Amino acid sequence: MKRIYLDHAATTPARPEAIAAMLPLLADGGYNPSSIHAEGRAARAALDTARVRVAGVLGAKPREIVFTGGGSESIGLAVIGAARAAAARGRHVVTSVVEHHAVLHAVDVLERDGWTATRLPVDARGLVDPAAFASALRPDTTLATLMLANNEIGTLAPVAEFAAIAHRAGVLFHTDAVQAPALLALDVAALGVDLLSLSGHKFYGPKGVGVLYVRSGTPVAAQIVGGGQEYGLRAGTENVAGIAGFAAALELAQSERGVNTARIAALRDRLEAGVIATVPAALVNAACAPRLAGISSIAFADTSAATLLIRLDLEGIAAAAGSACAAGSLELSHVIAALGLPAEYASGVIRFSLGQMSTAGEIDRVLTVLPQLVAQVRGIEAVV
Ligand code: PLP
Repeated sequence: MKRIYLDHAATTPARPEAIAAMLPLLADGGYNPSSIHAEGRAARAALDTARVRVAGVLGAKPREIVFTGGGSESIGLAVIGAARAAAARGRHVVTSVVEHHAVLHAVDVLERDGWTATRLPVDARGLVDPAAFASALRPDTTLATLMLANNEIGTLAPVAEFAAIAHRAGVLFHTDAVQAPALLALDVAALGVDLLSLSGHKFYGPKGVGVLYVRSGTPVAAQIVGGGQEYGLRAGTENVAGIAGFAAALELAQSERGVNTARIAALRDRLEAGVIATVPAALVNAACAPRLAGISSIAFADTSAATLLIRLDLEGIAAAAGSACAAGSLELSHVIAALGLPAEYASGVIRFSLGQMSTAGEIDRVLTVLPQLVAQVRGIEAVV
C-alpha cells in the first residue's frame, strides 16, 4: 500500500521545478561566483538572479537578502548577530517559550555571554499576549524574536503587531518564518520586521539552504567569518545550485499559496472533525487560535505518542510527536509543556502535517485506522 506522508512540517521533498533549477548548476555550471573568469561570472549571474527573485517574493531589495546554510543558521545569525552588533546599547533580548530550539538555543548562547533574556509564556492556544510583550521591553532591550507560525501546533502570531510594539520601544524585531512560505503571505513591509528567517526544505526546495532577510541599515555581526560573501554577513562559497532551487521553490510556493491553503485547510478540518467524532478523549491543540492550514496537533488522553507513532508507521502513515527536531528524544516537547494540557493528554500528542500531495483519500485512511490504534495503545498503556 502507498505510504501516507503527514510530516510536511518536518520537511518537504524538493519539487521537480526546484531540482530542474539546481541540476545545471551542480554540473557544468557549478563554478565559484567569486571567480572573475567567464565560468565564475555565469555562476554569479545565477546567484544574482536568485537573489532578485527571492527579494521579489518578499517585497525586499536584493541587497537585503542573505543566503545561508538553512533555517537554524539564519536564525543564529539574526539573533546572535543582531544582539552582538547592538551590545553597546544594551544586553537584553525578548523571546517566547514556544520558539524553535534554533531560537531558544541562540538565546542560551547570548545568556552565557552575559546577556539577560525574557522568555514570554503563552496561553493555552500558544499565543503570546501583546500587552505582556510590550511590558517585557526595557531600556536595555535591543532585540525581540517571536515566531510567525509555530512548527508543532501551527499557531500564527500577530507579527505585524509585535513588530510595531518593538519599534515603538526602539527594539529590533526578528521573526522565524520557517514554517510559513507554503501557506502564508511573506511581505516584509506588511509584516514590519527587521529580520526574517526562511529555510528551503519547508516549501519543497532543497535542504541546507536558508535566507535571512536583513532590512537595510539593520546592524548584524557576522557569525561565520572568512571571505566577504553575502555582503560580509556570511562567509563561504555560496551554494549556487541550492540557492537557485530555493528561489524557484519559493516563487512557486507563494504563487500557489491561495489554492493550497484552502484545499489543505479543508483536509485538516476533515481530519480533525473525524478524529473528534470517532476517538474518545481526544482534543485539538490550539483549535481556537489562528492557525497554519497544514498543521494539526491532536492530544489523545492516556496514550503514549511514541507507541502510537510506531503503530501509525506500521500502517504506512508517517506523522510526528512534537517537532522533528526534538524527535528521537521522547521527552515532552517544550511547546506542548507550555500549553498547560491536562497531564493525561500531554504525553499523547501527535502532529499531523499536511502538504501539497495530501489527499482526502489519505485522510480517510487515517480516520479508518486511528480509532482502533488509539484503543490498542490505550489497552497496552493500561496493562503496563
Ligand atoms: N524554525 C522552525 C519553526 C522550524 O520548524 C525549523 C525546522 O524544523 C527550523 C527553524 C530549523 O530549520 P532548518 O532545519 O533549516 O535548520
